Amino acid sequence: MRRRRNTKIVATLGPASSTPEMIRALFEAGADVFRLNMSHGSQDDVRARHAAIRALEAEVGRPIGILADLQGPKLRVGRFRDGAVQLREGATFRLELSGEDGDETRAVLPHPEVFQALSTGTRLLLDDGKVALEVTEAGSDFAMTRVVEGGPLSNRKGVNVPNAVLPIAALTPKDLSDLDFVANLGVDWVALSFVQRPEDVAELRKHLRGRAAVMSKIEKPAALERLDEIIELSDGLMVARGDLGVELPIQEVPTSQKRITRACRRAGKPVIVATQMLESMVVQPVPTRAEVTDVATAVYEGADAIMLSAESASGAHPVEAVSMMDSIALQVEGDAYYPSITQAQRLEPEATAADALSAAARQVAETLRSAAIVTYTTSGSTALRAARERPRVPMLTLTPSIATARRLALCWGAHSVVTEDAHNFDEMVDKARATAKADGFAEPGQRIVITAGVPFGTPGTTNVLHVAWVT
Ligand code: PGA
Ligand code: MN
Repeated sequence: MRRRRNTKIVATLGPASSTPEMIRALFEAGADVFRLNMSHGSQDDVRARHAAIRALEAEVGRPIGILADLQGPKLRVGRFRDGAVQLREGATFRLELSGEDGDETRAVLPHPEVFQALSTGTRLLLDDGKVALEVTEAGSDFAMTRVVEGGPLSNRKGVNVPNAVLPIAALTPKDLSDLDFVANLGVDWVALSFVQRPEDVAELRKHLRGRAAVMSKIEKPAALERLDEIIELSDGLMVARGDLGVELPIQEVPTSQKRITRACRRAGKPVIVATQMLESMVVQPVPTRAEVTDVATAVYEGADAIMLSAESASGAHPVEAVSMMDSIALQVEGDAYYPSITQAQRLEPEATAADALSAAARQVAETLRSAAIVTYTTSGSTALRAARERPRVPMLTLTPSIATARRLALCWGAHSVVTEDAHNFDEMVDKARATAKADGFAEPGQRIVITAGVPFGTPGTTNVLHVAWVT
């Protein structure tokens, strides 16, 4: 089974997509990675979905990525006596660390660290920015605010504090429990929400102990301020446009998206563009023209992956949403403008053997119009460097590690095949030829370009570039 597309698709699972049949249908429609969102559903739901994905993977014989997404320090108001209230513009509204259920004049905000970070003039956004408050007086366990933007507010709605770095732990007790749970199940990527500082990523990495790759969700202005340091410590990034569009003036979302995707491409780390890509498909079978264009823009930009949230998790048309992304990505990648746009953003190789050989492999393969570039990789790092070149020629990745193959499911262009390392040079060439033929990458009479580290078995030793005829 071979996909004809370089851009990967991430589909979030949820109530609309939890049966093994549905997960299989999403995979067949084009999903390469499944997201398990720890903000919703029970650990039992997650366990069942995880098992269904791994069973499907065994059945289809293709590596499938699993991304567990930790809720992170998401702030919420408490409950209201009547379930909901109406806040009127100009009114005074009090927030308190603890107390009774709220009403028109007050609500509980059960996060002590937030009160430490508030001062006169700080803005709080509630329920995805539908309601806005401005602090007029700040105490250690309360804040008086003025309603700047009125509207309804109900139980447990989210709270964003865009202009403050909150002195809050990156991982809540729930995150630590979820982290342990998913690491024991065995997932390929763990994403952390509301990353504020590089230290937050380091904290996640410390707890994960290499059991999965680390993804930072960029949805806070503070994270954008230290973007390069966060990228350095992460294995991949998500442009989490949902919360980003609340935390930042919404017109800054596209420019931030461009900045984050470019920075990730420079670093050679996978980047996902997420949220509301085909939002109207939650209810409608056909997306808007603007949504189709949004997906296309992310593909032109060279994002590694595009993501579905509610569209696949709880919408009425999950499979159609994946198919739609698949066909948009195929259309864009087949466009004559696509390679020129991608190449215009190509970056100089860094001074490593892996980069020098990846750049050379791309050039040789394009010049010879080779059928494929075949990359031997143990940790996946050489495959990421090969993908950083964004070659016009299809990429085939051979690895002895199923964990590497699954992580690379998120990486632009990587078609991974798990196979034992070769024992010598001839076997390396034979295996590359045989796999390229078997997986539909090359036919007899075509050439492939191979990179590998010889002798095999030592990660980080890519030192061979070889051109072979397929026979
Ligand atoms: P979420 O993250 O769906 O977990 O909130 C993505 C986003 O904020 O865009
Ligand atoms: Mn978010």
